[in-house]
Amino acid sequence: MTKKGDMLYAWTNDAEIQKKAELGGAVTALWKYALESRMVDAVLAITKGADLYDAKPVIITDPKDLASTAGSLHCGTLLVSKLIKKYLDGARDIKIGVTVKGCDMMGLYELAKRQQINLDNIIMICVNCGGSVSPVTARKMIADKYGVDPDIVHKEEIDKGQFIIEYEGGHKGISVDELEEVGYGRRTNCRRCKLKVPRQADLACGNWGVIGDKAGKATFVEVCSEKGANLIDGAVKAGVLATQAPNPKGIEIRAKVEGAMLKLGDKWRKKDFEGLGVGRERLTKIMAETSRCVKCYSCISQCPICYCVECTTRNPSMVPPGELPVNFMFHLIRFAHIADSCVNCGQCEENCPAEIPNALFMHAQQVELEKMFGHVPGISMELPIMAFVEERTERDRLHNTGSDMIYENVFNPLPKKY
Ligand code: FAD
Ligand code: SF4
Ligand code: SF4
Ligand code: SF4
Repeated sequence: MTKKGDMLYAWTNDAEIQKKAELGGAVTALWKYALESRMVDAVLAITKGADLYDAKPVIITDPKDLASTAGSLHCGTLLVSKLIKKYLDGARDIKIGVTVKGCDMMGLYELAKRQQINLDNIIMICVNCGGSVSPVTARKMIADKYGVDPDIVHKEEIDKGQFIIEYEGGHKGISVDELEEVGYGRRTNCRRCKLKVPRQADLACGNWGVIGDKAGKATFVEVCSEKGANLIDGAVKAGVLATQAPNPKGIEIRAKVEGAMLKLGDKWRKKDFEGLGVGRERLTKIMAETSRCVKCYSCISQCPICYCVECTTRNPSMVPPGELPVNFMFHLIRFAHIADSCVNCGQCEENCPAEIPNALFMHAQQVELEKMFGHVPGISMELPIMAFVEERTERDRLHNTGSDMIYENVFNPLPKKY
């Protein structure tokens, strides 16, 4: 019997899944079993859209359709967390299986603690994540650094520190470090990300630590919950999943790679945050950069922490409408509402038409708040101070009492932790 804390190599015997899968197809096979056994009603996964640079979310209810979702899209920078809230009613009445990266998972935790989704109805299989590459950057990088037309590339992968492309007539790999030195490679938030093996999901799957004859043909699975253990046992019993104990040397290598990735994350944090300066210098930089804002609200609509029904940035007494440059209050409101819980998913930066490094600004503030209050977002159901009230209830309280003291009941008395 599998239990929480177990580690194993896993792969599928399903030929169709194996053909398309990244590393043996364990993830897709597990979803196949979950659907067939009715452990879940639907699976939310990612599939290739128009091309390799276009990652598309799909809902699968027929197990036969799952093979189309196998494989890793490293230019798949989308975040699935908010899709569950927006389009699947927060999984209130259906059971959903979802493949997540670390940032997707952290977004789900943040939404769950704000009662926007029901985590009890969600099974998360998390892929280890060294980082993703913005589709726009990937196209430019392939043309410029690889000298290849991005439209003829039919496969990409990140392996042993290289970003590798395959195209008709050849393949080429360049070290990610080298690409990042000249501004290509992973998104900047991914470089700072330190959630490489997301053990807060039900299962954490990746290639680090798979060595010997199974290298490239199996996935290293860490079992992180009872739900995850049941899923593995059921899939093995049903014959769709094969497993074996991992090579002890592989476990050592895995720990070393993870450690090296965490150090690299620290290095990038230091570089990016120092580049922002401190105090007045930092504020001046943020004000200069955000003066390009056109108030398109993309940063708000994509952010997994933004969930208010009545967004304060739309209140004309706070942010005067019809003004360019947009009043800085717009950004101050976002900083005040989000910074304690920002999970550095990068969406507010990637989707900003004015190319404002929003995620950098928010992440820089989040780490300062973490130092002050010790609250780490995205990895547990622990509430940050701002999430102690429910928006509607708080608005009703203010309306009914005539008070203008928001969070009055939270700060007085302050919750124990603070
Ligand atoms: P498959 O059966 O092929 O299933 C893959 C699953 O991933 C499918 O459900 C698919 O929908 C989903 N998926 C594909 N692209 C994305 C995406 N962009 N976002 C969310 N879900 C997606 N493993 C490591 O050990 N080290 C790494 O550095 C590493 N980096 C990764 C970076 C990215 C962006 C991704 C998506 C994966 C990464 N992985 C990494 C995990 C690894 O590539 C495999 O996904 C994992 O080993 C499972 O293999 P499999 O054959 O069982 O999966
Ligand atoms: Fe992966 Fe982290 Fe980047 Fe998300 S933010 S894509 S988990 S490296
Ligand atoms: Fe402003 Fe960019 Fe946010 Fe749009 S996405 S509102 S331009 S900061
Ligand atoms: Fe992600 Fe930006 Fe929201 Fe932070 S502020 S959680 S980086 S969208």
